[in-house]
Order: sequence, then C-alpha cells, then structure tokens
Amino acid sequence: MTGTRIIYHIDMDAFYTSIEQRDNPSLRGRPVIVGSDPMQGKGRGVVAACSYEARKFGVHSAQPISQAWRVCPGAVFLRPSMGKYQENSRRIQAIFREVSPSVEPLSIDEAFLDMSDAVLNFDDAIRFAYKLKRRIHKEEGLTASVGIAANKFLAKIASDMRKPNGVYAVRPDKIQAFLDPLPIAKLWGVGPKTESRLNNLGIDTVGQLREPGGQEILTKFGRQGKLLAQLARGIDDRPLVTYRNPKSAGHEHTFAEDTRDRAILLETLHQLGEKVALRLQKHGLQGRTVCLKLRYANFTTITRQSRSRMPVETSDDINRISRDLFLLHWDRRRKIRLIGVSVSSLVDESTDTGLPLFPRPDPGDLVF
Ligand SMILES: [Mg+2]
Repeated sequence: MTGTRIIYHIDMDAFYTSIEQRDNPSLRGRPVIVGSDPMQGKGRGVVAACSYEARKFGVHSAQPISQAWRVCPGAVFLRPSMGKYQENSRRIQAIFREVSPSVEPLSIDEAFLDMSDAVLNFDDAIRFAYKLKRRIHKEEGLTASVGIAANKFLAKIASDMRKPNGVYAVRPDKIQAFLDPLPIAKLWGVGPKTESRLNNLGIDTVGQLREPGGQEILTKFGRQGKLLAQLARGIDDRPLVTYRNPKSAGHEHTFAEDTRDRAILLETLHQLGEKVALRLQKHGLQGRTVCLKLRYANFTTITRQSRSRMPVETSDDINRISRDLFLLHWDRRRKIRLIGVSVSSLVDESTDTGLPLFPRPDPGDLVF
C-alpha cells in the first residue's frame, strides 16, 4: 500500500441554512432559503443556499428566487450573512488544519485534507472521519459529509454519496466498481456540452467510457479525451494546492499499534525532529517555538510548546526541546497513537521563497 494517498473531501451540509437554523431554533425543521429578496415572487436574484426541507420542494441553489417562491411559498427567506458564514468557515478550517498538515480549501464550506500521515489505512480513515464529524458537530453545531479516497477526484464524488451527515470511502480495490455505474457528468471537466456530445455517441456511464468502444471515441476528444480516459480509470495525481504562507514546519507519525514504550516514543520523536530540521534548512527558515503534539489512543490530543529566546534551527535544538516537552507532559499510563513535532514563529533567513512547507507527505512517512 505504500504510496497510496488518503484524501478527505469534506463538504459541510447546507452550510448557510444550517448556520441559520442552528442560531435560530424557530427555523429548525422548516424550509429555509438564503438568497436575494424574493419580492413576493417578483425578485430577480437567485437562491444562494437552501435547507434540506426546502430541497424537498424542488428548490436548489442558483435557481431564480422567483421560482423558489412559487414552488415553496411557505419557506423562510433570508438575506445572506456572509460575515457570519465566513467566521464559521474559518473556525472549521482551523479544525481541519489541526488534523492535517495539508489542507486545500475549495470554497467556504469545502476542503480537501491529505490524511496520508494522520491515519494508518482506509479503516482508520473511516473511524477518524466519524470522530472529526462528531467534533465539528460538538464545537460548531453543524454536520458535514466526508468522502475518502486515494485522490481528489474520487474523494469529491464520494462526499456526495451519503449526504447529508455521511461518510463514504472508495477503497483502492473498489475504484472501478464505484466509478463504472456513474453518469459521465460526474467526471471532472465534463460539462453539459461534452456530456451531450458523448451521450449522442452512446456513452452514458463511466463504465462505457472504459470499454474499447468508449476508448475509441475518446481519441476524437484530443487532450480532454486523454484526461477523461484516466479519470474513468480513477487516476488523478493532482496534488493538494495549499496557498497559505507557511507558519510552521512539522512532521507527525501515527503508530501502527498504540504504544507507551518509552524507547520507541523517544526514537520516533528524534526522527521527527531530524525531518523538521531538514525541512527548515531546505527553506532557509528558523523558528522560535517548538511544539509537541500527542494523540492518545482514545484520540484526545494535546499540544505543548516551548518558546526560546534564540532561534531554533538545528535538529539538536529541536530534539532537546521536544524531548523535554515530551518527558514533562506525557501521561505515562496512557498509550500514544500519534506523535508530532513542529517549529513555528518562523523567521526567514533569506528571502521568502513562497514554497509550501507542507508539500505532499513523503512516502517514507506512511505506515501501513
Ligand atoms: Mg456544502
């Protein structure tokens, strides 16, 4: 399995209207539509978002608000409170960044998370997804759906499969069974034009695209055809695009078996410190704060940090500090699931390279 990525696509369920329903209990269970003013059916704007109760009436986002008014006259119509939605989004993204070093925000309520380092395998990824969903619900009062797969393309389709409030994993050996029955419109890059062109050639499903006849047809689509042929086989090597400027450099390790073996823990910590130092050097960075992260077997996570007066950059510095932190804060009765070290309060030695400090996880970090 080495080299297989594990990507989450997390999509908040009916984000805007769920926030409104959370904040105003009288809206719960009712059709709620966020968008422009319906003006008694004469409004000219569109629906920005609608609750699941409104969707039952055929309301959908981007629909003309006048039409929504006609099909669902009993709905509560609200103007958007973008500031509030953005603030909720920021808090949720902060949770994502806590669980994954590599997060690609797609929109205000969606993100890809590279979980390759944070989980052991697909079973673990599924368990952790439920944990994460529970946490988001507990802290933010909102539900999310999670798609899990080896790449962004599959994870994005998967998050839609059990919406709302669901988790769906496309295991590597089930990719073809998952894709084949899907309509071709599910393929990345297939808009209405390509869809009808392919439909007219007798291609309705991804499975048909994979057959020799479908492959033949794709040769007429040039570059796009090559891409579609790959997607139809579930291949998508696009990395996560993380725009954030680096604020910290870190590595973490998830143990195949939870452990409280002091020697193993210290040795792992040491190796992580070496990697962090290498990464800092590679980017010409120094930091002042060393942070230790411990996740216990029951998934409770603690972070403890130490700020030093002198800049930290060598592995000796990092290892000395992280070892002290570990020995001071580890509850020795408890087994550890994950250990991590990061250095933050970064100062640039030369000029800002703008390079992401968290590119794709090294395959060497994967434990299966
Ligand atoms: Mg959403």
